[in-house]
Amino acid sequence: MAIGYTFDNCVDLYANDLGLLAITRGDEIIGYNLLAGGGMGVTPSAKKTFPAVAKRICYVTPEETMKAVEAVFKVQRDYGNREDRKVARLKYVIANWGVEKFKAKVEEYYGGPLADPDPADVHGHNDHMGWDQQGDGRWFYGLNVENGRIKDTAEMRLKTAIREVCTTLRPTIRLTAHQSILFGDIAADSRGQLESILRSHGVKLSEEISTVRRWSMACVAWPTCGLSITESERALPGIIDQIEVELARLGLANEKFTIRMTGCPNGCARPYNCDVGLVGKSRGKYTVFLGGRLLGDRLNFLYKDMVPEEEVAPLLGHVFAYFKQDRQSEETLGDFCLRKGAEDLAAWADSRTASLAATA
Ligand code: SF4
Repeated sequence: MAIGYTFDNCVDLYANDLGLLAITRGDEIIGYNLLAGGGMGVTPSAKKTFPAVAKRICYVTPEETMKAVEAVFKVQRDYGNREDRKVARLKYVIANWGVEKFKAKVEEYYGGPLADPDPADVHGHNDHMGWDQQGDGRWFYGLNVENGRIKDTAEMRLKTAIREVCTTLRPTIRLTAHQSILFGDIAADSRGQLESILRSHGVKLSEEISTVRRWSMACVAWPTCGLSITESERALPGIIDQIEVELARLGLANEKFTIRMTGCPNGCARPYNCDVGLVGKSRGKYTVFLGGRLLGDRLNFLYKDMVPEEEVAPLLGHVFAYFKQDRQSEETLGDFCLRKGAEDLAAWADSRTASLAATA
């Protein structure tokens, strides 16, 4: 479950079973759009399973919200599949019934009609990295943690640095839906101290990390997850290294888009609603999805299957080059891929490969 704002969908509302999208007037929350039925999990052996983004069900005032949420829970309790765990999620109830029937059933449990969703929808996203003011004179700092892995290495003693920040500055801690950390309640005159602790341990400040790395994430996969088929957390950094070079070469280094990788189709790093999804399919091979977006409100589409790990970055390099050449103004990578479609993207990549080979 997630609660977010239209202008800041940092919690990826549409990927959740239940989402409350706050509708605001000025500084006041006047109500919520209730979203239901998002979920990323897919079981490879079960064709009946699929990822879904949540559907917009109704609008509720703050006073009506808990009762409406309870009604959704009760519908799932009474009509969710209790016999087949693979399809036990709320998204399957909604897929089987359709939104209209689902809403009618929620209204039955709620005890009256529920208003249609407010037209407002998600239109912004902020990862909250770097410094920002809290509004009470104090500051918070968003520290980008690559794939959420906190450990010490010879080059970067991240774990020790975080321990020192916690013991010396005693910040409050928030974990973000993008696997990073927010240190809160930092006094203005302690900001330099936090930065120097990070730097002295070889930890890059969030502002120094490339845009593509900052907006990427991976699930744990090997060696932690018993369900993993491929590497993920340990593979993505190397792929991002290659992608960073290509994006810089194409002048696209500041382009904001999401790359997410998982070690199996269960989708724990939400690879089905991002710009570029890399999903472990068989040992060392990935399914590549394109066409989602940062806002997370639509699913991406399957572009190529069974792509060996070492071919992922070159494959995406073609997509980036095409994007650079043919994008419309302000078009994001995901929007571009959606407009072109898998067939056109593949045909362009083939012709580029042929022409590069001819000139080599
Ligand atoms: S997506 Fe990743 S963490 Fe989730 S079950 Fe698969 S391998 Fe494990």
